[in-house]
Parts: sequence; C-alpha cells; structure tokens
Amino acid sequence: MLGTVLDIDGGFKREKRHSPIPQAACNLIWELKPTQMMRRKNNNKHYFTRMSTRKKVHAFVRVRPTDDFAHEVIRYGDDNKSIDIHLKKDTRRGVVNNQQTDWSFKLDGVLHDASQDLVYETVAKDVISQALDGYNGTIMCYGQTGAGKTYTMTGATENYKHRGILPRALQQVFRMIEERPTHAITVRVSYLEIYNESLFDLLSTLPYVGPSVTPMTIVENPQGVFIKGLSVHLTSQEEDAFSLLFEGETNRIIASHTMNKNSSRSHCIFTIYVEAHSRTLSDEKYITSKINLVDLAGSERLGKSGSEGRVLKEATYINKSLSFLEQAIIALGDQKRDHIPFRQCKLTHALKDSLGGNCNMVLVTNIYGDAAQLEETLSSLRFASRMKLVTTEPAINEKYDAERMVKNLEKELVLLKQELAIHDSLANRSLVNYDPMDEIQIAEINSQVRRYLEGTLDEIDIINLRQIQEVFNQFRVVLSQQEQEVECALRRKYTLIDKNDFAAISAVQKAGLMDVDGHLVGEPDGQGFGLGVAPFSAKPGKKAKSKKTFKEQLRPSTPPSKPVAFEDFKNERGSEINRIFKENKSILNERRKRASETTQRINAIKQEIDMTKEALNFQKSLREKQGEYENQGLMIIDEEEFLLILKLKDLKKQYRTEYQDLRDLRAEIQYCQHLVDQCRHRLLTEFDIWYNESFFIPEDMQVALKPGSSIRPGMIPVSRIMSLGEDDQDKFSQLQQTMLPEGPDSISFYNAKVKTEQKHKYLKTMMGLQQTQRK
Ligand code: ADP
Ligand code: MG
Repeated sequence: MLGTVLDIDGGFKREKRHSPIPQAACNLIWELKPTQMMRRKNNNKHYFTRMSTRKKVHAFVRVRPTDDFAHEVIRYGDDNKSIDIHLKKDTRRGVVNNQQTDWSFKLDGVLHDASQDLVYETVAKDVISQALDGYNGTIMCYGQTGAGKTYTMTGATENYKHRGILPRALQQVFRMIEERPTHAITVRVSYLEIYNESLFDLLSTLPYVGPSVTPMTIVENPQGVFIKGLSVHLTSQEEDAFSLLFEGETNRIIASHTMNKNSSRSHCIFTIYVEAHSRTLSDEKYITSKINLVDLAGSERLGKSGSEGRVLKEATYINKSLSFLEQAIIALGDQKRDHIPFRQCKLTHALKDSLGGNCNMVLVTNIYGDAAQLEETLSSLRFASRMKLVTTEPAINEKYDAERMVKNLEKELVLLKQELAIHDSLANRSLVNYDPMDEIQIAEINSQVRRYLEGTLDEIDIINLRQIQEVFNQFRVVLSQQEQEVECALRRKYTLIDKNDFAAISAVQKAGLMDVDGHLVGEPDGQGFGLGVAPFSAKPGKKAKSKKTFKEQLRPSTPPSKPVAFEDFKNERGSEINRIFKENKSILNERRKRASETTQRINAIKQEIDMTKEALNFQKSLREKQGEYENQGLMIIDEEEFLLILKLKDLKKQYRTEYQDLRDLRAEIQYCQHLVDQCRHRLLTEFDIWYNESFFIPEDMQVALKPGSSIRPGMIPVSRIMSLGEDDQDKFSQLQQTMLPEGPDSISFYNAKVKTEQKHKYLKTMMGLQQTQRK
C-alpha cells in the first residue's frame, strides 16, 4: 500500500458530486436557455444552473512524499477517505497528550504520492468548470510550512510537468472559453498578499499599474467584497495569464528578501474573475464568478517559546488569522449561527464572499508523512475534519447589464410606440402624442380640472393613459389647494385647537369660549369644523342661545306641511297671482256655463227643427193625397203648412246663430283654459320657490338673495326642491292633482314643465352666485 499512489478516485467519485439530479430537484430548474441546452450536449455535466443545493466543503489531505513515512503511526482507511493516527504510548512522550493515542479523521480523499495532474483532477477541475457557469469557487491550501502548500497551489514554476493548481486552472478556463463560442467571456486576475494584516498587490510592479498611493482597503457592497486599490488585469489568453502569475510569484520571492518578509508567513490569494455574456441572446442577464486560489501561511504554532520582535509579531498575526479563519468556518458550519465573524481579520474579510456561502469550496490540507511532524499533522488534520462539516449552498451569480437593459427597453419602447400609432390610425384617432407631458400641457389639464369642478366644463376628453393619470393628479392638486384655502380661511377667522390638546381645551372652556360638550361658541349645534374659538366679535357669556332664538324667529325649525304653506302663500306672496288665477278661472267657468247653456239651446232648437220638419212632411204628404192645386204654375199650400215652413226657417236661423255663439264660446274657453293653466303653473312654481326660500335656503345664500344682489328672489336650485321629504312631495303631488281639471293624466306633463323651468332657473342662480363670489 505504501509508496503507491492511492486510488483517490475510488474514494471520491466525481459522478457523485454531480450525480444525475433526482426528479424532484429537476422541478427546481428554471430558465434552461437554448444555449445552455446546447452546451449540455457538448459537455454532459452540470448545466442544471440556478439550482441551489446544499453541499459540504470538500476536504482533502495531500501528504508530502517522504522516504521516512511513519507507517506505524499514519494509516489510511480502506476507502481512502479517512486517516487514522495511532501512537505508541512512549513514542512522543510529553509532546502529545499521552491520554489519547488514537485519532480518526474523516475526509473526502487522501492524496498520497499523487501527481500534480491527479491532484488537479481531484481537487480543482470541477470547481473551475462550475465557475464558468457562474459559481464562485475557493480552493485553499492549509498546513505547516514546508508541507507542500505552494507546491500544490503554484507548483514548480520552472517545470511545466510540476505546475500546480493555479496554472492548470488558468489553462482550463481558457480551454473552456474556446469551447463556448456562444458566450463572450472575459477573464481578469489579481494577486493579493496578506502579510501581518497588511495588504500587498503582487501585481503592482507591472508598468501600467504603478505603486498605489493609498493603502488598499477591503470594501463591501451588495455585489460582494472587493479590495480597493488592488490591480485587476484583463487577460485574453493563457500566456498573458501565466505572465501575470509569474510576475506575482517573482514579487513574492523578491518581497521576502527586500522587505524582509518570510513568504511562509503570508497568505496569498490569486483570484480569477470570470464574466460571461451571451453572444446569441440580447439578454441583459450575465453571469460572473470568482475563483479564489489561496495559499495560506504556515499553520505551525509559532512563538510558543522565546520568539521576539518580528517573529513574535508574525506568529501573532498568522496564528490569529488562521484561528479567525477557523472560527469563521466553524460559524459557517453551524446553521443556527446567523453572524459569521468575517471582519476579525483581513484574510476572512477579503474572502467573505468566497468562504462557504454560495461557493464551491475545497480545502487541501498539506501534511508531512514523517513521524517527527506528527504534532502539526494532527493539528492540520483536526482543521481539515472541522472544515469538512461546513456546508455551502453554491448559487449562480447572475447580474444585469444595465446598459444592455436600457438598450433593450429603448428598443421595446420604440416598437410599442409604433404599435400604438398603428392602433390609433386603425381606430381613426388623430395622432395622439404619448410623450411625457410638459409644463404647459400639465397647466392646461389643471385648468380643465378647475373648470370641470366649477361646472363650466361638462366633461374632460380622454386622450390617453398618461393624460388620465395627469387629470387625477391635478384633481389631487386642486383638492389640496382648496383644502389649504379652507384651512387658511378658518385660521383667519378662528384659532384652531388640537382636539387632543386637553390643556388648551380646558383653558378655552375656562375662558367661557366653549361649552362643556366641546361645542363652539357661536356655532349652532356645535357642528363647526372641529374645535374652535369664536372670533372676538362673538360675545362670551350670552352665546349661542340668544342667537338660536333669533334664528328661530326667522324660520321655524320644522317647516309647515306643503298644503298648509300653500294656503299661507296664496294669502301672502302669491295673492296677486292667485287673484288673477281665480279671475281667469271664474271667467272660464262662466264661459263654460254659457257654452253648456248654448249647447242645450242648440240641442233644443235641433229637436224643434226635427219636429217641425216632420210636421211639414206630414202636411206635404196630406196635400199630395188630397190633390194639389196649381195656379198659374204656382203651388197653392194651406196656411198650416205655410206657418210650419216659416217656423222651420226661423228655427234654422236660430240654430245658426246659437251655433256661431257656441263656436265663439269654445274658442274663448280654450283661450281661458290656457290662461288658467298658465296661472296655475305660475302659482305652483312661485309657491315652490317661496316654500324653499322660506324654509330650506342656506344662510350664505340669503345674502345673495337680498335686494340689490344679482340674484332675484325665486331662483332656487332645483336640487333643493328635488330633495324635499318624501311625504311632502307626495302631498304636494296630490295637491297639484286636485287643482288640475284635466285629471291625473296631465300631472306628468305639468311636472315636466315645472322641472324644466326650475332647472333653467337653477342654472341662472348658480351663475349669479358665481358672479357674486367673484366680486
Ligand atoms: P509550503 O508552501 O507548504 O511551505 P512548499 O510547497 O514550499 O511548502 O514545499 C516545500 C518543499 O517541498 C518544496 O521544495 C517543494 O518543491 C517540496 N514539495 C512539497 N510537496 C511536494 C510534492 N508533493 N512533491 C514533490 N515535492 C514537494
Ligand atoms: Mg509556501
């Protein structure tokens, strides 16, 4: 077993990490884009993007090759996923806890005598591959100095075969880009060194970068964490990327000499930034990812005994930062913890969005296989097994290209405008402008709204949605202005007190300006605008009562019923119309009486005529029977017949006269009837007006109705009349009915007539009122 390459793949199956997704999980997949499907054909793996499943951090152990491997002490499990340490009680007495002699560490794989190739395949390949789909990835090498961290991460820079994860990762990235012509993928790199809690840019030596003026700082924003001042380099090909890597490596070595830095005491973070935009879709979405390749400082316990100065400082910083890293990782592993202490040191702060979280995370713990290093090896293995417990939830970093989004929206806007224009022309609408309104248009709408509220504009034409919204907007503007005006008017007249300001209220009550019920002095029934204080002109003390009594004198609190009021009206304001009405009516009645007498007479005459005609006919037939006498061509008739003829003649004459009289009378009756109708109508209309003026008209209108004002008495809004109590209205209808000689059928006719006239008067009243208000 020893000296052979352990079958790592046997212990760690990659297919398991990307095993076929179960049906239920497939339901989570959304937006599998055509390009992604295409890519799936090319490469059968992991294109179930956006899927977020919990994953453990993968912890591997790489053992540095040695001729002196501690077979007795270090044993690998059969599955190569565990390391057992067994100590003979006496081997390292005093150094390790002699109470415990056996340890077992669960891992994801043990890399013993593994080639750089195999290490990359096992540790990094999938992380890099997923990074191109938008998943952040972090690979860290942990372990004591000399255990092979740098060898694992960077490898031998002079020997291609022994190159480490870093150059291989860059190679894979560029190879994958070539395989994805459907995407425009950019690669950028940066190389950061953290030494004694200070940040160093390992690529600052490049001529186009120049030394930074201000020290670098770690900055957090919603997009993640970035280091302000750290140079980030766009690389379009593998070679450029390698050059940057070597530049950084060289600087790392130089710095260790010139700045007296011990390279094993610093943490180095090489970051590859990937950004992929689809070439085929004009999609504003794009993906980004970050691959952090971290070569940590040596984990050995330093300064345990006798360290001084620089060494002590280094020891403190390294031990602290590694223990903070461990704390952060433990916190990440504890799902109940909602706070992760990332900001305790530069290392964890810089890696905040690359540790755990939504990343694919892999830890390589480098250990010695020598018994002499057992203490540090045990410590490193403990760290590895703790790391393995941490779960992450890898997720795609999807971003929106604001510029592209704006362009797409602009395109859509143009299309929609064209569409609207087509619709308008089909609907025969004259060219409607859909652009945002300017100040003049808004002012015009404001004026329309005002005219509409005043009643001078019947309706506001609908043009488009924007205009409708502006109309509503202006309604609000006008309303709030009016509210302010009302409030201002009230404030000019009253001192307003906050309803909840009890101190102020009691002060006012004490001053006698307000009764205990909170009613205003001088406000009838307390129905004012909230609480208020009467103006100085209102005398405290006498107050509401006297005023109310005065008002009651003016008008009763409940108006009399209409029939009763009508009687009053006929004797007072309506007496003249009533007199004329009565007169006309009596004339009408008199004419009707005469007409009926005439008719009777006519009928009598007609009867007599008929009788006379009959008698005459009888005489005539008698004469014919007896034989006729003729004298010189003249018919001789007897006296009786002659008298009958004369009588008939006279009757006919009478009939004609009477008939003429009747016709004249009928015309007169018709005319009189018309006069009476008019009078009745006038009487009722005037009554209506009088009734409402006397019992319903609001006070403010009284002013307008006073003599000399623009409104003459009798102009009362129809709405007032319409809003009469039901009972009153019914009674009044009955009253009207009894007064109508034509019977109930004519009611609707008169009602319509009355209403039309009232409406007309109402409009005139309103206009008159507006005029007085303007004055
Ligand atoms: P660290 O970075 O952990 O301090 P290094 O990577 O610098 O350790 O390794 C120390 C020495 O051991 C280097 O000379 C390196 O080449 C060598 N080394 C480490 N691991 C291996 C390995 N797996 N195979 C061959 N040489 C190794
Ligand atoms: Mg090193």
